[in-house]
Amino acid sequence: MTRTAIVTGAARGIGAATARRLAADGHAVGVVDLDPVACADTVAAITAEGGRALAVGADVSDADAVTAAVAAVADELGAPTVLVNNAGILRDNLLFKMTEDDWDAVLGVHLRGAFLMSRAVQAHQVKAGWGRIVNLSSTSALGNRGQANYAAAKAGMQGLTKTLAIELGRFGVTANAVAPGFIETDMTRATAARLGVGFEEFVEAMVSQIPVGRSGCPDDVAAAVSFFCSEQASFISGQVLYVAGGPTS
Ligand code: NAP
Repeated sequence: MTRTAIVTGAARGIGAATARRLAADGHAVGVVDLDPVACADTVAAITAEGGRALAVGADVSDADAVTAAVAAVADELGAPTVLVNNAGILRDNLLFKMTEDDWDAVLGVHLRGAFLMSRAVQAHQVKAGWGRIVNLSSTSALGNRGQANYAAAKAGMQGLTKTLAIELGRFGVTANAVAPGFIETDMTRATAARLGVGFEEFVEAMVSQIPVGRSGCPDDVAAAVSFFCSEQASFISGQVLYVAGGPTS
């Protein structure tokens, strides 16, 4: 069945791959990112394959912008009942060097953003009696040096997910989290640059720790999101699926 989905942070990386995948699954997709112009490639890729998509510029940490973005998608594509909270940023630093701004910015985009988007979209989901929410967590939720802010946000996404599952289940809405390991995107390229390591060298070092012997790509994550958004996943809710090429501990 065709639905309307919203994917945040969908101009590039995992969000762009997820938007394309959900469109291929038959959904109309609201492609939300900070800059609507940056969403053009994702929208073009979807429409070139016969899908429907709308570029929407919004900062997911801004309540008014979120309200306007969800309304724009509802007006243009129909009531959104699938939501993927994917927008994210890094402000890595060791604790003693981490500023309040580093902390607030990361918690603001990931956690406040997911809260605001979920609160806005659930109104449409409850009305429809059906919905899917997928939140992007991370293996960093288990703790990662230099990422006190990001790890806290990504662990928070798991608690948010479980609570959304409990509150919204009776309305036919499931909420699950996908927690990627190492995925090759601009985000991990920026991490390599910050560490002063070439990206190929960085990938090689990461892959040496991954049981399946390769790095992840955005489509690996999009496939997991697609499953959680499907009709057949209706009895799976409040779960965290690690997409990391091996077990996590
Ligand atoms: P990415 O390539 O950096 O893409 C993130 C997108 O989110 C960018 O287009 C960015 O826009 C957008 N964004 C940032 N702040 C926003 C805001 N306030 N409102 C709306 N959009 C915003 O990242 P990615 O690697 O695809 O990661 C996607 C998600 O997966 C993130 O939540 C990340 O934490 C998670 N994740 C990634 C990995 C990995 O290895 N890559 C692993 C685990 C989890 P700008 O370009 O304008 O900043």
